[in-house]
Amino acid sequence: MPEQFDELLHRVYEIQDLNAAASILSWDHSTYMPPGGAQARAEQLATLQRLAHERLVADEMGRLLEALEPYEKSLPYDSFEAALVRVTRREHERWHGVPPAFTARLAALGAQTHQTWIQARPLSDFAAVAPWLERLLSASRELASYLPGPHEHIADPLVALADYGMSAAEVRGIFARLRAELVPLVEAVTAAPPVDDACLHQHYPEREQLAFARRVVERLGYDFGRGHLDLSAHPYTTRFAWGDVRLTTRVREDNLAECLFGTIHEAGHALYEQGTDPALDRTYLGSGASSGLHESQSRLWENLVGRGLPFWRYFYPQLQAQFPAQLGAVPLERFYRAINKVERSLIRVEADEVTYNLHVMLRFDLELDLLDGKLAIRDLPDAWNQRMHADLGVTPPNHALGVMQDIHWFWGAIGGGFQGYTLGNLMSAQIYAAACHAVPEIPAQLEAGEFAPLRGWLAENLYRHGAKFTPPEVLERITGEPLAVEPYMRYLRTKYGEFYAL
Ligand code: ZN
Repeated sequence: MPEQFDELLHRVYEIQDLNAAASILSWDHSTYMPPGGAQARAEQLATLQRLAHERLVADEMGRLLEALEPYEKSLPYDSFEAALVRVTRREHERWHGVPPAFTARLAALGAQTHQTWIQARPLSDFAAVAPWLERLLSASRELASYLPGPHEHIADPLVALADYGMSAAEVRGIFARLRAELVPLVEAVTAAPPVDDACLHQHYPEREQLAFARRVVERLGYDFGRGHLDLSAHPYTTRFAWGDVRLTTRVREDNLAECLFGTIHEAGHALYEQGTDPALDRTYLGSGASSGLHESQSRLWENLVGRGLPFWRYFYPQLQAQFPAQLGAVPLERFYRAINKVERSLIRVEADEVTYNLHVMLRFDLELDLLDGKLAIRDLPDAWNQRMHADLGVTPPNHALGVMQDIHWFWGAIGGGFQGYTLGNLMSAQIYAAACHAVPEIPAQLEAGEFAPLRGWLAENLYRHGAKFTPPEVLERITGEPLAVEPYMRYLRTKYGEFYAL
């Protein structure tokens, strides 16, 4: 059947070229595009995404996939050919009921909302984004109605788009179990005397922060020969090809942690993408397996590695040398405590490991309420503030620090965008434990600045497979277990129990 397979490959390459071109346009939108380009950019993105979508859902594609079924079945499940047919079929079936004109409309709407958000956020101007959010919410419901069913909750197909195999009810169940264990820990930790993190809030010039962040992620193994680091309003990672995986970050001169940990987080995503097998490039297989697995890698490098003591035993002297006036007299122990300070705070991406998941649960619940009509966009800021107060004990002084802080909800379909962060945290502990079980020297190697053994193990067991396997399959192959709450809670209790002498 090689002829039909070649035909499939050719079609998939074409679709992925269009998708990559759209990603470059989005990246440019986030980094260098002047505001005047917004309208044209929205139309360009809409055109490219419509063309890609039309090719994916075309009848000829369906016939080709059907004809290739016996060939697929004759091959090992993990072979490139079988996986390509399987995953392309999944995408074809998933998007088949979605009209291409709708994809174009959603892409344009996302780009326009993004542009409005970029301008309205610094002004905390929720009224400016509200009409766009109304349109995006209604488009998100429409999208859910086109995706394959049946489903119990309207958010189910949107959740499954980001985290294949998951439903809203399943996520809710996991979150409820996590919450029951997390809330007492948050209470105990925040009742302890607060940690002094003043050393992080001195003046740190942007250029030097960027230089240090670059040095760190390069040492972790991010390949600048196949990547680039730029600034954007909200940090993210994007892949145009195996040879071109880019990061963005942001810098605040009065906060050393933001750029440093934000860049390590994005580098975790990028190591996953750069670590995929190059033979999978230009296909649906050549990318991370799910939003949750992607976050498991950004959070693993940011937190389990990057906020750990071994990591800083190696890097702290270099950081002190970069900022002698600010940190020369600050001992490692004080710096280590500062970067792991737990507090009830406003901003998710800056939140500590203990409170972080409460931020995610809040957003996930609000998304579900928006989608099933329990909550109207006009009531969202109040609902946000009330929930922040109830869950985290803080009330945002303005919308920029509240409901408008995240790029999510302001650049594409609403729903299914947040659960991956917490699923990723849970998986990060399971995967890191499996790595340390297989290679017990990993903590000692981190302390010596040797990151290649950990990265190599992750590349061998996770990165190189790209999207060949579903998220449950990946986790089972790596850890022998399904998704679980306990390893992550054990990690938090050990680290923070010691820290706060609980
Ligand atoms: Zn991330």
